[in-house]
Amino acid sequence: MDYSKDISFVIPLLNEEESLPELVSRIRAVAAGQSWSYEVIFVDDGSTDKSWSVIEGLAKEDANIHGIRFRRNYGKSAALHCGFAQAQGRVVATLDADLQDAPEEIPEMYRMIVNDGYDVVSGWKKHRKDNTFTKNLPSKLYNATARRVTGIKLHDMNCGLKVYANEVVKNIEVYGEMHRYIPYLAKNAGFGKITEKPVHHEKRKYGKSKFGMNRFVNGFLDLMSLSFTSKFAKKPMHFFGFTGILMFLAGFIMTVWIIVTKLIHQANGLPFRPVTEQPLFYLALLAVLLGTLLFLAGFICELISRTSQDRNQYNIKDRF
Ligand code: UDP
Ligand code: MG
Repeated sequence: MDYSKDISFVIPLLNEEESLPELVSRIRAVAAGQSWSYEVIFVDDGSTDKSWSVIEGLAKEDANIHGIRFRRNYGKSAALHCGFAQAQGRVVATLDADLQDAPEEIPEMYRMIVNDGYDVVSGWKKHRKDNTFTKNLPSKLYNATARRVTGIKLHDMNCGLKVYANEVVKNIEVYGEMHRYIPYLAKNAGFGKITEKPVHHEKRKYGKSKFGMNRFVNGFLDLMSLSFTSKFAKKPMHFFGFTGILMFLAGFIMTVWIIVTKLIHQANGLPFRPVTEQPLFYLALLAVLLGTLLFLAGFICELISRTSQDRNQYNIKDRF
């Protein structure tokens, strides 16, 4: 594959007008230091401040700077998606526009992609300069969960500063709010060489954070969906059918037990409670019903996945 640049910097932004000039001059200095040919792709995610005119101004003086402007705010994932689609560099770096991520870290990460053959090098804000209680602690918990679920040993899955081999970003689809899990998307697409590098982190200089505490709840839900779809989207019956059968079996055994004990007691002239007065009866009923419903859900999902367009889409690496 021929790439027209050494590196593409993809930068999603929402109302970051003050930070952009400094960011560009630092990126320029880094690129000059490495003698890279490069492009900067700013994706303006519906800013309502002067960010876009600042970008236009910067682009006038420098042909390496490009901009994409959304008509409204779609979210960081959407911005990354469009930036990735346009990126022509052999290596693609993403960083936040708020100067919290240092472009000076990128040369080493670039080297890890090009020389060490990594697919993804993720930044790790080892000494994080955000609020301890609203960000740092929840983030630790969140990352521990993400590590368990995804099996990717990263300390800081959601770091904005990441560097990729170009084919990675062309082979994944960042949608919804999945920008938090790009390493997981990459892994599911077959790019398993993922590592991290501790990076310098700054306090936010201008503006304010665009994500509130709900990021952790939503992030967790997204993680569940991702993990579920990556494991079962193509074979939902393996999940629903299995749990459904287990449930149904449990209910069936309880029902048999209720009937048999009643018959035995009856035959021997022993006292017995009416079936409908036994808690077990209701449990059995519930289990049989739930089992049937789960089974049915599995069946319906199976029909849906059978008609889905990408049911036979595989990522082929080589062919001859
Ligand atoms: N951002 C974006 N669209 C959004 C929210 C944020 O493009 O809807 C950008 C934002 O401008 C910044 C980056 O995503 O460049 C990270 O956002 P932020 O700094 O607010 O996140 P934090 O550092 O607080 O995690
Ligand atoms: Mg930030």
